[in-house]
Amino acid sequence: MDCIFCKIANKEIESAIIYEDDSVIAFNDLNPQSPIHFLVIPKEHISSANDINEDNKEIIGHIFCVINKLAKDKGFDKDGYRIVNNIGKDGGQSVNHIHFHVLAGRSLQWPPG
Ligand code: 5GP
Ligand code: ZN
Repeated sequence: MDCIFCKIANKEIESAIIYEDDSVIAFNDLNPQSPIHFLVIPKEHISSANDINEDNKEIIGHIFCVINKLAKDKGFDKDGYRIVNNIGKDGGQSVNHIHFHVLAGRSLQWPPG
């Protein structure tokens, strides 16, 4: 499958990896929108949150545990941050492999545009 995030997960494409274990990988976003902006993805290809189901749901809880750990390790847990998951055309999803943006290091505005 021609998926850029699968290629990042299996190291066919280089990225600035900040965390990796058997099932997930986290890497800095190529086009950061805040001083800290990384993506956390499952290594398994799941297209979007539309494809989360009873068989693969554990990975989502694990991703949130990884984000929690990275927030504490990098020290932005107390100031706060934002986890973003875009879905489909109206959600602004541009890569069809589920990914969670983690944005930190500045005060973020709400609501989104
Ligand atoms: P989306 O718009 O799908 O929610 O987010 C996709 C994100 O992936 C964007 O923030 C974009 O900057 C990032 N991105 C796209 N291609 C690459 C890449 O090859 N490497 C890295 N590190 N980030 C990428
Ligand atoms: Zn993929």
